[in-house]
Amino acid sequence: MPDVLAERPVPAPDPLADFFWQSGRDGMLRIARCRDCGFWVHPPSLPCPRCLGRAVHPEPVSGRAVVHSFTVNVQQWRPGQDPYVIAVVELPEQDGLRLTTNIVGCPVSEVHIDQPVRVAFVARGGRYYPVFTPACPIQSRSTSTGFDLWRSPYR
Ligand SMILES: [Zn+2]
Repeated sequence: MPDVLAERPVPAPDPLADFFWQSGRDGMLRIARCRDCGFWVHPPSLPCPRCLGRAVHPEPVSGRAVVHSFTVNVQQWRPGQDPYVIAVVELPEQDGLRLTTNIVGCPVSEVHIDQPVRVAFVARGGRYYPVFTPACPIQSRSTSTGFDLWRSPYR
């Protein structure tokens, strides 16, 4: 399995989004949510795009998602690099609540639209990158990801 994080640019410091990269420390995915109207806001921004409230704070989500769309990167950014999946997943907490991520833990040929997935984290450089794995591991013939996934209470 490819190391999907190899040579990935480090997220730029952002007071609104730093929580997102630290959230996986305890294995929980957190998304910004408006405490005034309940709207989930991703990427995090102020004010709330629905009510213009400023009480937008991180809250844990279920960690479940489905694959909304994806592509398989076959460009070798370094010699010998394996293809990997870049995906947009939709979280069940709100219609249209999506994030861009990678699907790992299964062959790229097994990823499909509407596939149930769940969050896992790759710890690197003090950040916890959320990636997603098939929610039904029995579908996967390989669980090796080439790196250690951070523990997750969702499993
Ligand atoms: Zn709001």
